Amino acid sequence: MQEYLSFGVNEERTVNEHTIEKMRNGEELLWFNPSLIKAKEALGKLSLSMGDIDDAERRLERFKPFIAKCFEETRAMDGLIESQLDEIPYLQSALGQKHGRLYIKRDDSLPIAGSVKARGGIYEVLKHTEELAERNGLLDGMADYGGLAGEEMRRFFGGYTIQVGSTGNLGLSIGMISAKIGYRVIVHMSSDAKQWKKDMLRANGVEVMEYATDYSEAVKQGRALSAADEKSHFVDDENSLDLFMGYAVAAKRLRSQLEDKGIAVDSNHPLYVYIPCGVGGAPGGIAFGLKHMLGDNVHIYFVEPVQAPCMLAALASGRGSAVSVKDFGLSGITCADGLAVGRASQLVYECMRELLDGEMTVSDGKLFDCLHILMESENIFIEPSACASIAAYRMLMDSDEKKICAALDDNATHIVWATGGRLVPESVRAEYLSL
Ligand SMILES: *Cc1c(COP(=O)(O)O)cnc(C)c1O
Repeated sequence: MQEYLSFGVNEERTVNEHTIEKMRNGEELLWFNPSLIKAKEALGKLSLSMGDIDDAERRLERFKPFIAKCFEETRAMDGLIESQLDEIPYLQSALGQKHGRLYIKRDDSLPIAGSVKARGGIYEVLKHTEELAERNGLLDGMADYGGLAGEEMRRFFGGYTIQVGSTGNLGLSIGMISAKIGYRVIVHMSSDAKQWKKDMLRANGVEVMEYATDYSEAVKQGRALSAADEKSHFVDDENSLDLFMGYAVAAKRLRSQLEDKGIAVDSNHPLYVYIPCGVGGAPGGIAFGLKHMLGDNVHIYFVEPVQAPCMLAALASGRGSAVSVKDFGLSGITCADGLAVGRASQLVYECMRELLDGEMTVSDGKLFDCLHILMESENIFIEPSACASIAAYRMLMDSDEKKICAALDDNATHIVWATGGRLVPESVRAEYLSL
């Protein structure tokens, strides 16, 4: 089962040029990465390693007593922030697919943030908290990190600020955890951020600054304001290694879930994973972790809106974060607010260049089709951004490209990564379902 396409340099250029042309026209497309090489080789070129993921996992482990104390909803899991992996056969048949098995990774229901951002965002704030606590001797003589909760500690952390630029969900995640720890929090939001997300943050004591411009501008402003204050930490979605590692831990957790369910992943049992992509941190971290653990037996596809395919633009042009979707005449506007990003993370671009199997782009209309089909077949609600994963699965399975024959294998397992949804208010759900 060889999925590397031995493209010559010229063919590689042709594939990418053709892709860019379709992308410019706002057409939906399926792109197989012509630069894909063996996972081991690609990973070997990166400075990040499995050890970094293990380190992040251990840090989350240390913080479990603290999380359990701060967030009641995590107590049943002893402070572990994790989601279920569930089989969704009714969606599979509703989509007319007969091959392999289809699962959903329920990050839409992750505690605290109700989205995949509960992984990276919360991890970064916890890591910063550990550093501050260590530097100030707060951990001395403390039995476990549960001691970092409580009024006295809150007053200490209240002397520090956390800032972040966000289209919505990252702000929610950083805002909720930081406010709980006691930090002053400022979330710089782009114009496409949903009103209910701003309202929820403000109701939790978070300062929300709004910008009439796009996400990159909100990040730029936040970064500058934070840099001017030495007691402020900026969570930099475009460049953060900590976010990336927090997301990567998901791969270790997924591997044990696959083992617990007896789902084999090996050369005769390929795994296909479809993940919605914004700036790239969440899908990039997860992909990095999965390739480390499952190597060439896992095939990972990112999916982006037709008007905001920043990672595809970065990869197909080979120019990384030097290009914005606007350079290709695209608007960056989409109802998938979590994916409304015009410029990819350079860090993630570099990691994914030879590791990512491919990408799909989808129209907003398809997202709502998938939202309805999932609701009707499985009675699961996820937000429009998250529905991109389903649209991607469908697109790959329905494609007649020869390269995907392994995806059509009856031994294949497919996972659509549901990246968000639990916190969407009832009124907004009703509106989405009526569209
Ligand atoms: C943030 C987000 C993504 C993508 O994550 P990035 O790190 O921005 O690539 C996907 N889906 C949802 C619902 C999100 O909030």
